[in-house]
Amino acid sequence: MMKSDTGKNKVQLPIDCVLGITYNCNSRCIMCDIWKIKDFPELPVSEYTKLPGTLRDINISGGEPFLRIDIPDIIATVVKRCPKARMVISTNGFTPALIERQMKKILAIKPDIGVAISVDGYGKRHEEIRKIPNAWEKDMETLERLQKLGMSNLRLAFTILPENVSDFGKVYDETRKRGIQFTHAFAQSSEHYFGGITVDNKPDMTVLKKQYDYVMNKELGTWNPKRWARAYFAHGMYQFSIEKKQILNTDPGTKFFYLDPRGVVYPSVVHTYPMGNIQNVKQWNDLWYGERAEAAREKVRTVGRPAWMICTSRTAIKKHPHKVACWVIKNKIGGMRDL
Ligand code: SF4
Repeated sequence: MMKSDTGKNKVQLPIDCVLGITYNCNSRCIMCDIWKIKDFPELPVSEYTKLPGTLRDINISGGEPFLRIDIPDIIATVVKRCPKARMVISTNGFTPALIERQMKKILAIKPDIGVAISVDGYGKRHEEIRKIPNAWEKDMETLERLQKLGMSNLRLAFTILPENVSDFGKVYDETRKRGIQFTHAFAQSSEHYFGGITVDNKPDMTVLKKQYDYVMNKELGTWNPKRWARAYFAHGMYQFSIEKKQILNTDPGTKFFYLDPRGVVYPSVVHTYPMGNIQNVKQWNDLWYGERAEAAREKVRTVGRPAWMICTSRTAIKKHPHKVACWVIKNKIGGMRDL
């Protein structure tokens, strides 16, 4: 694998990324200002041919990615360039018919692709957070349409906020009832990913602990190692939410990057140091091993910012199987103790 020649800080090519393909959004979420961004150029499809072929996990995100009408062309280009990558599209799910239509085309290109539908509360609570009438009903319609297409790689994605923390377990239960996966994040400020809104995320900690206890015990109570790893991820998220510390080191800007709709590459969705614009280089390595990318990594090292997100923690969890196994054994025997 190609490496930079900057001595001790040798950097390999990345294996995980988020591609934000548009800022357009038809939601009005209380924790995000992206939908207020107007008049921005979208990266031409041909630019995605410059992505590194080493990628193994790709999250297609936005804004609302299905509002980009050429999303099947983007997926086809990315699949050709990164044939070994697992892919998931994150959507707010508010356009069921459009999503179904586009997914028929996308599934013909990448049959195992996943879709994550953001659901930030049960029933009306979801609507209060997303500010879209009938938000819950629209999302459940999208989910059912995708299930009818034969999709099994489906999940609900919950973003924790003070307003919805008591619904965490209920949305988790809904995923169990419907036989799909559950994932979650902790809302944070991010100029380039959530549009610069300041999120002062301080949920009621007693309620949060109770909700995590419930979800993690359920996950650990199974005999499915993937779900044990999810319980460990949830443990990391709980620790991050109370202490703003990571339980494992992640690798923003080395194993991972975020590509925004304008073509700017960042170390992650919360690290605001631009590494370069993909449109200004002939090939990926010119950007990844360029001076701006090295300067951004230096900022991550020196200024940093703790973060625990599925995109960056996934690689860290895989890198430390023993730590995960020890935690699982300790907490599986006799129920959750080490939240
Ligand atoms: S969080 Fe996602 S769905 Fe909500 S406004 Fe921002 S980009 Fe749109």
